[in-house]
Amino acid sequence: MAGILVWVETSEGKIRKITRETAGAGAKLAEKLGVPLGAVLFNGRDLVPELGNLGFSKIYTADGPAFEKYSGEAYAEAFAAAGKQFSADVFLTGATALGRDLSACLAARLDAALAIDVTEILYDAKPLAVIRPVYSGKLLAEVELQGEMKVISLRPNVFPVTEKPAASPEVVPLSLETLSIRAQVRKAIKAAEGVMDVTEAAIVISGGRGTGGPAGFKVIEDLARALGAAVGASRVAVDEGWIEYSHQVGQTGKVVSPVLYIACGISGSTQHFAGMGSSKFIIAINTDSDAPIMGKADFAIVGDLFKVVPVLKEELSKVVK
Ligand code: FAD
Repeated sequence: MAGILVWVETSEGKIRKITRETAGAGAKLAEKLGVPLGAVLFNGRDLVPELGNLGFSKIYTADGPAFEKYSGEAYAEAFAAAGKQFSADVFLTGATALGRDLSACLAARLDAALAIDVTEILYDAKPLAVIRPVYSGKLLAEVELQGEMKVISLRPNVFPVTEKPAASPEVVPLSLETLSIRAQVRKAIKAAEGVMDVTEAAIVISGGRGTGGPAGFKVIEDLARALGAAVGASRVAVDEGWIEYSHQVGQTGKVVSPVLYIACGISGSTQHFAGMGSSKFIIAINTDSDAPIMGKADFAIVGDLFKVVPVLKEELSKVVK
C-alpha cells in the first residue's frame, strides 16, 4: 500500500504556515489516490494537538539532540525511516530554504524523483505530474515524476490551507539507533530580531534603486509597519548595501507569493519578476510609466515614491487595523 508523508516545518516552536498549505495539498492528493496521509515532526511533540485538523492519520515524531537544529542528514534519515514504516511513496515539503534542502537530501537518499518549487499538482495525472516555473518564471514546466518514490516541494503561499474535522492522529515515536550525522549545525545566528520573513508574509513592500539609499527605505519600512507587511528589495538595493540580502526578492534572492506585492522604485527586471511574479496582486509605484513593472502590475501608480508611499500609508492605515 502507498501513502503520502508531509514534513511538519516549525520555526521557534511554532508550526509554519507552509505546513498547513502542504498538508492541504497532501490531503487532496491522498483523497484522489485513496491512500493515507501522515506527517513527520521533529522535536515538537507538544505541537501534535495543533495538527489534529490537517487530515493526518499518523504522526511520526523524532526527538532528541540530533533533531534540535535542522540537519539535512538527520532529518532525511528520519523522514525516510518514517516513510518505510508508513509505506509512503510520496513525500511533501514546503519549498522554504530548509524544505528545499531536505527534499534534495531525501530524494538522494531514496533515489526518488524530485520536483522543487512546485506551484500546481496535477492531481489526476498518471504518473503523478506537477507544474513548476523554470527559467526565472518565463516558462512553466509540466514535470512527470517517474519511479516508485517521489519527493515534491511546494512553493509557499500558493496552495490553500484546507482544514479537516478535528481528529486524534496516532503518534508513532521513531527510534533511530543507527543515526550517523557527519555534519551538525551547532548554532543558528538570526539576522535581525523581529524582522518578518518575506516568504511568509501576506503583504510584501519592496524598494529598489528608486529609494535612493537606506534613508529612502525608511519610507518603505513605515508603510510595511502600518500594514503588518514584510520589507523586500531588489538586488540593486542589496548590492548597494541599503538593506540586507535576506530581503532580496528575485532569481538570486527569495521567491515570494504574497496576496499583495507593492514594488516601489523597482523597474521590474526579469530577474526580479522571477521572485515575485506569482504574487496575487501587484501594485507598482514608479516615476517612469514605461518601466516594465508598470505593464505587469495590476495597479500602476506613476509618481515619486517619496510622495506616493506616505499618502498610501495614511489612507491604508484608515482601513487596515
Ligand atoms: P533599476 O532597474 O535601476 O530601476 C529603478 C526604478 O526606479 C526605475 O524604473 C525608475 O524609474 C524608478 N525610480 C527612480 N526614482 C524613483 C522615485 N523617486 N519614485 C518612484 N520610482 C523611481 N534583481 C533582483 O531584483 N533580484 C534578483 O534576485 C536578481 N538576480 C539577478 C541575477 C542575475 C544573474 C543578474 C544578471 C541580475 C539579477 N538581478 C536581480 C538584477 C536585475 O537585472 C536588475 O538589475 C535589478 O532588478 C534592478 O533593480 P531596480 O529595479 O531596483 O533598479
